[in-house]
Amino acid sequence: MKKPDWVPEDAGAAFTTTVMKGVDGGHDGMGTEHSVARPDELKTSASPKRRRLSVDEYVKGVLDGDRNILARTITLVESNASAHIAIAQEVLRELLPHTGGSIRIGITGVPGVGKSTTIEILGLYLLEKGHKVAVLAVDPSSKVTGGSILGDKTRMEDLSRDPRAFIRPSPSGGTLGGVTRKSRETILVCEAAGFNVILVETVGVGQSETTVRQMVDFFLLLMLAGAGDELQGIKKGIMELADALIINKADGDNKPRAMAAKLEYNRALTYLAPATEGWQTQAYTSSAVTGEGIDEIWAVIRRFQKLTVESGTLEKRRSTQTLEWVYAMVEEYLQNSFYHHAGVKDMRGRIEQDVVNGIMPPTVAAEKLIGAFKS
Ligand code: GDP
Repeated sequence: MKKPDWVPEDAGAAFTTTVMKGVDGGHDGMGTEHSVARPDELKTSASPKRRRLSVDEYVKGVLDGDRNILARTITLVESNASAHIAIAQEVLRELLPHTGGSIRIGITGVPGVGKSTTIEILGLYLLEKGHKVAVLAVDPSSKVTGGSILGDKTRMEDLSRDPRAFIRPSPSGGTLGGVTRKSRETILVCEAAGFNVILVETVGVGQSETTVRQMVDFFLLLMLAGAGDELQGIKKGIMELADALIINKADGDNKPRAMAAKLEYNRALTYLAPATEGWQTQAYTSSAVTGEGIDEIWAVIRRFQKLTVESGTLEKRRSTQTLEWVYAMVEEYLQNSFYHHAGVKDMRGRIEQDVVNGIMPPTVAAEKLIGAFKS
């Protein structure tokens, strides 16, 4: 596979951003590739593409809204190579004062519910209103393709072709922690580049909703009428994460069912703890095909933004999220160090055997393993 221009020259196996089939030609406009392939539409830098950039060049490029450099900065942030991480952290430190100026919106729902279609229509609607929209995906389940949710080139075609929008597929981070770090840092980079609406898409699988909830201000759960809660994998826990429930595909024959589902969910929601202090989560209907309900979703998000800014809830949420992020990284580091520790690895098999055979109490086993780790 041809290495695209924006991949750092010395990128080895540790460089995880995978170029997806069909993207290399650059005509589907998926984020970085797009910006390389269609320079006529974009403000591009004069610097040679394959030359290593300095920290200042990255920072200036991002702040100037240079799409080529923005894409390269995200690529740098997504790299797992320690040399890249060090430069990325310097760049981020410089960009930090310019971040925080967007509304961060998470969007989840089972595959097929209409996430991409809704993001496309909402994104185009927001561009028309003069907003700058970035779309990112978080898909920790997809290690091979580097992001299945935005990897399909037929998705969000109009939005990805629009030079005012920026679309970035999920990083392949290996671990959930890896994907989380990259996605959170990418949000910051996009904010520094002037994007004021960040849409973060995630699939309704495993831990990814909780992960995305922890990096956004507003969390949107897309659902279908009549699909049955079980079928949609909707657990009470996920509904409790949401700031709004959208019953999508409220068009044609399906419209009456969607309206009925909205009432039903609204009843159910009154019994649940709200995801955001002082805000009542409600259900709404929309159609990503007719566009009906899209303006209402945006009005709800604006109302939420106003309310949480004024009450200080938004600021509090972001501070909490930042600290959670710090400790999540600490925990991941400690866990990795523990399981990769030579002494622990040596001892583990025997200790596990003894515990399973009832010879050693679990507490003693934990003490011994921790003892080995500390020695
Ligand atoms: P995702 O997997 O959640 O991203 O779902 P997609 O956005 O790919 O949509 C899945 C299918 O549902 C596609 O064939 C869409 O055209 C269709 N779809 C999405 N939204 C709507 C809608 O509001 N109404 C109708 N009738 N179809 C929709």
